[in-house]
Amino acid sequence: MSYKLFIPGPIAVSEKTYKAMATPIVGHRSKDFQNLVASVEPRLKELLYTKDPVYLSTSSSWGVMEGSVRNLTNKAVLNCGNGAFSDKWFDVSKRCGKEAGFLSFEWGKPVDPEALEKELATNKYDVVTIVHNETSTGTMSDLGEISKVLKKFPDVVSVVDTVSSFTAVPIKKDELGIDVVVTGCQKALAIPPGLAFLSPSKKALERAATVEGRGYYFDFLEFEKNAEKNMTPSTPVISLIYALDSKLDDIFAEGFDKRFARHVENNNIVREWAYGYGFELLPEEKFGSKSLNCFKNTRNVDLPAVIADLKKRFNMVFDGGYGKLKGNTFRISNMGDETPETMRELLGNLDQILPAYLK
Ligand SMILES: *Cc1c(COP(=O)(O)O)cnc(C)c1O
Repeated sequence: MSYKLFIPGPIAVSEKTYKAMATPIVGHRSKDFQNLVASVEPRLKELLYTKDPVYLSTSSSWGVMEGSVRNLTNKAVLNCGNGAFSDKWFDVSKRCGKEAGFLSFEWGKPVDPEALEKELATNKYDVVTIVHNETSTGTMSDLGEISKVLKKFPDVVSVVDTVSSFTAVPIKKDELGIDVVVTGCQKALAIPPGLAFLSPSKKALERAATVEGRGYYFDFLEFEKNAEKNMTPSTPVISLIYALDSKLDDIFAEGFDKRFARHVENNNIVREWAYGYGFELLPEEKFGSKSLNCFKNTRNVDLPAVIADLKKRFNMVFDGGYGKLKGNTFRISNMGDETPETMRELLGNLDQILPAYLK
């Protein structure tokens, strides 16, 4: 059972990364572990263009997404929803027993800064959550425009999910003035799942100190206390931190600009290919994600059959739509280590399969 993933997460992991995971583990209260954290943390900060700390959480991204709601909300949280992940954040807020409002947009549409401004102006909220890159619909909201709105509401702590955009496109946390960035490892970072990241501003930490019921495992202040010593609150997934250390070497060796440009190039190759078959992008083109593409199944192909064929003949898989879009859309990831050559290999294989399915 070995095949290459072109689904938008988890994505293909390199041999080098797998090898790094086999490094013998060390005690998590040892100097060796502190050195490991000291090796990765400053580089994560550079990648977020921030002076704020970046905590390592042994969890999937949802851990720190839920944790953000629990740590920051006194009054009420506004969850902006425009796809499966962002919509679910509203559900999670309610499950945490928080007052929550839902600013809903059609799937495939970005978060509208004007609507956001209008809702925040009601003064009902002290936290807002936004998913930068809605992986379920391949839609990337405009953080530049959104941050202009957020800056008008300094009492509202902003939380932005960059799970499938981090390291694929620049996310300049401090310049944007985002309070909390949450992200994960198994999407654009191309590490096996199990590690998540949380970068809070001073304002976010100050807020957390006033909030009751933060719990323990995702308590921001517990993270902060330990991060000051280059440690984590509890035993972390050390093998994945080795993987991260190795991956950061790759990213810094390539250079950020080259990495971002490679994602754009790969992304365009897939778009042009799909347009050639008459498929349309689900979002408006300028809001199309750079780390994946989500196309409408405008040619009505039998997606499960195409995917099964591709897997059987070429050991590759892509995605046949998420949640309520299953069957009506398909998604191809270009995150991680992919190059124009590897993207063309996938598309070339699809060229051998797809024509038989077109009516
Ligand atoms: C994958 C994904 C998540 C959930 O990540 P987990 O690691 O499965 O918890 C959240 N938000 C976005 C945008 C995602 O793509």
